[in-house]
Amino acid sequence: MMNTPLTLRQLLERPVEYFPDKLIVSRTSQGQFHYRYRDFNQRVNQLAHGLRDMGIKPGDHVAVMAWNTFRHLELYFAIPLVGSIIHMVNFRLFPEQLTYILNHAEDVALFVEDSIASIVEPLISQLPTVDQYIVMGDEYTPEIPGVIDYETLLAGQPDAFPFPDLDENSACGLCYTSATTGNPKGVHYTHRALYLHSLTLCAADVLAMSERDVVMPVVPMFHANGWGLPYSATWVGATQVLPGPHPTPMDIVQLIQGEHVTVSAAVPTVWFAVEQLLAQDPSLNLRTLRTVPMGGSAVPRSFIQHMEHDWGIPITHAYGMTEATPLATYGYVKSAIAKMDESTRYDYRAKQGIPIPGMRIRVARRDGQEVHHDGQEMGEIWLQAPWVADEYYHDDRTSDTFVDGWFHTGDVAAIDPEGYLRLIDRTKDLIKSGGEWISSVELENALMGHPAVAEAAVIAVPHPYWIERPLACVVLKPDTTVKVTAEALLSFIAPHFAKFWLPDTIVFLPEIPKTSTGKFSKVRLREWYHRGDLGTPQPNSL
Ligand code: ADP
Repeated sequence: MMNTPLTLRQLLERPVEYFPDKLIVSRTSQGQFHYRYRDFNQRVNQLAHGLRDMGIKPGDHVAVMAWNTFRHLELYFAIPLVGSIIHMVNFRLFPEQLTYILNHAEDVALFVEDSIASIVEPLISQLPTVDQYIVMGDEYTPEIPGVIDYETLLAGQPDAFPFPDLDENSACGLCYTSATTGNPKGVHYTHRALYLHSLTLCAADVLAMSERDVVMPVVPMFHANGWGLPYSATWVGATQVLPGPHPTPMDIVQLIQGEHVTVSAAVPTVWFAVEQLLAQDPSLNLRTLRTVPMGGSAVPRSFIQHMEHDWGIPITHAYGMTEATPLATYGYVKSAIAKMDESTRYDYRAKQGIPIPGMRIRVARRDGQEVHHDGQEMGEIWLQAPWVADEYYHDDRTSDTFVDGWFHTGDVAAIDPEGYLRLIDRTKDLIKSGGEWISSVELENALMGHPAVAEAAVIAVPHPYWIERPLACVVLKPDTTVKVTAEALLSFIAPHFAKFWLPDTIVFLPEIPKTSTGKFSKVRLREWYHRGDLGTPQPNSL
């Protein structure tokens, strides 16, 4: 067989050849913008010339701080295709973390969108390796000496760049993931990993993405390659919709309606907010969506069922992480399960799914042996695939996590006889009460099944006798008219759990704090608890 290299270049060349007129639509701070794949390709080539003029070399890390926009997509291709590495920076990190990752990566240049530039300005004196700053958009030009304007960099450049032949195993992307303690950890992606991941994402039993789709990644493009959607969507020539700066739930709804989006992906908290809009205005119609992969944290069964029944929005659980490019399992419904009764089908769809093709999974006991596939025994999820990292970038935490060819995820799960994974918790979030494990995720899912509950997060708090006990933080829906008490919520979930699982305390909050990637921040909740801020009696609490 031919040993053709698996590089991102092929992902760019195909739509230009076969779907040059398909559209890329991008919300920007100036309004909506669209162009065709042929224009996109031309600008990627011009950008490659610009990168060469800047002196960017193969192997250099080039940082990008941007919302999901057409310019970000251009950088997704131009930087890797000249042999450099795109560092997709989570600009919502704290300033100390941002400084840490930009210095740790030794980025040589930083592309920043105008709307984010004010975050960068105060950091500049602490970034010795970054010697070029490029601003995208003209809403705001930061006070940075020698700052380059993105459009000026492209203007007048030739339409074709002689892209070099690249080793498929060379690094082309870099993302940092949060660590339980200490600084974020970096993961390098290779051309080969992104190529194979993009291909698998399009498989029929995964997202089945095709040219006929209109794909909108709401998940930020700095979060684990935008879950792979921008690369796969480009490869198949799908219409792409990039929701731009600060997309509100209404922006998301309007883009789905206006562009007839068929595939969209985001963490559950985004969709919880969208659902509240739908509830307020039943005339909104998102029925063009044919699949909505949702992950990053667990999606309650009740939410999957409600979105499908009431709004015709089919949610599919996707499980993965930064280290796995990110996708590991997908909530594909096997044909035998599709024939089962509705309730059983939803039981399966509430699980995290089965491994996508190419992914090997082991749910391991402490001794490394596989647990029984009985849906009950718990173990840690280990992963192995050509798109799973085998180290953290320049980080001595590598040896704790990557062991004998397996990536140890730190997630605890059970696996059933059909092979469906049920994520029980992150190791660090499990609650150990009197020697027995309690899953915070299962309690949260049950609480969010109550019609008046918008968000629920459960944390372990210290207890003198039981060592740890669950404490639930609950946000009620804004339009809730009935008074919902802690007792009512406990009675609602009680039939599903052993008595000792039930939270000792329910605290009502106006909002659950979120992480930089939009998940419930249990770290912050624990901090609040230890500062005494969660203990103060709330009107509805026990
Ligand atoms: P961070 O840790 O910075 O949030 P990641 O996005 O890499 O970054 O987080 C991955 C983690 O998110 C997984 O290890 C798992 O704990 C959780 N997760 C991802 N997808 C799901 C899902 N579908 N259901 C439950 N938890 C999930």
